[in-house]
Amino acid sequence: MDNSEPLAVYLHWPYCARICPYCDFNVHLDKRAGEAAALVDAMVADLRSWRVLTDERGIGSVHFGGGTPSLLSRPQLGALLGTIRELWDVPHRAEIALEANPNDITQARLDDWRAAGITRLSIGVQSFDDAVLTQLGRDHDGVRARDAIAQSVATIPSVSADLIFGVAGEGEGRLTRDLDTLLALGVQHISTYQLTVEPGTAFARAEARGADLAAGEHQSASDFEAIDARLSAAGFEHYEVSNFALPGHRSQHNLAYWRGRDYVGVGPGAHGRLWQGGVRLATETPLRPRDYIAAVDSEGTAMRTEPLSPTDAASEYVMMGLRTVEGISPERLSAIAGETRIIPDYLFKDGLLELISRSSGPQTVKATPRGRLLLDALTRAILI
Ligand code: SF4
Repeated sequence: MDNSEPLAVYLHWPYCARICPYCDFNVHLDKRAGEAAALVDAMVADLRSWRVLTDERGIGSVHFGGGTPSLLSRPQLGALLGTIRELWDVPHRAEIALEANPNDITQARLDDWRAAGITRLSIGVQSFDDAVLTQLGRDHDGVRARDAIAQSVATIPSVSADLIFGVAGEGEGRLTRDLDTLLALGVQHISTYQLTVEPGTAFARAEARGADLAAGEHQSASDFEAIDARLSAAGFEHYEVSNFALPGHRSQHNLAYWRGRDYVGVGPGAHGRLWQGGVRLATETPLRPRDYIAAVDSEGTAMRTEPLSPTDAASEYVMMGLRTVEGISPERLSAIAGETRIIPDYLFKDGLLELISRSSGPQTVKATPRGRLLLDALTRAILI
């Protein structure tokens, strides 16, 4: 709503060295000569198109996601970051994050990333258990993951690791051992992922042939309770449904999404959001790299823009905001919806929502732990 709020920038690098059998992200193998170089040029062009839309803004965070952005070469990363710095004001305190595969992490690369201004690394570890990693089709082993994290923690100011749970048939105590290892290595942030079998993946085809890959809901729920208890005891804040952080290490980029702020999205399949003249604009781009490049070549941008209705914008704000311990502001909700919204009292009485009392500033409302399990229904009830 307010153009003085910092802008977040998401860049999607869609290539992976191989496609993991459970992955349903927008990922591609880099098989076409020259395509990756052309994609960097197209993303640079799209950043310039975004600058026309946003005008002058300060940047709060830049996030290289994927895919596997740790496959970006030093000149490619430099071209993208250099363009962002040229177009907007990137203050020293801005979070600049890169998702990395353990196999791509070497001391030389870490030094390059640090020199380029990367302040945060998000490492796709999932587990240190070789049997689980093999089952997941990952191309790193536990020793590589451990070494990669140790080097990262020593070089990059903030390090996050992904941890998977809900894996069928894993050995007794795997999750506890993985958590102990992550804590001993000193990561400051952990993102948890429940293994789910998504349509169209190799895992879905294997399950159709009778394989048992994802644990049942009961096992997954008890896995998650164990993670929550262990990390809370270690001083981590459970600040979003799936994310835990030591104080000062919350993901500023993801918080921008969850707070309903503006974000630039460039690269294949990237989405963006921008308030412009009181209207919430939504942008998206073609999924395939070659279509993205072709769109930039023919039209100057791969971005398609459409206005969201006030109801859809309000729904997004509630759905995202209730994922976090910060919750939502009823005032902001009314401003987004374009009319006064009263949050129904029974949602507080039923123990699904609670007020966050503050000594100053507007009141906010957050979901209770029980409410977080019913986010879809809660969102609908608030927006009726
Ligand atoms: S490395 Fe990550 S993004 Fe790439 S296929 Fe595997 S899970 Fe998907």
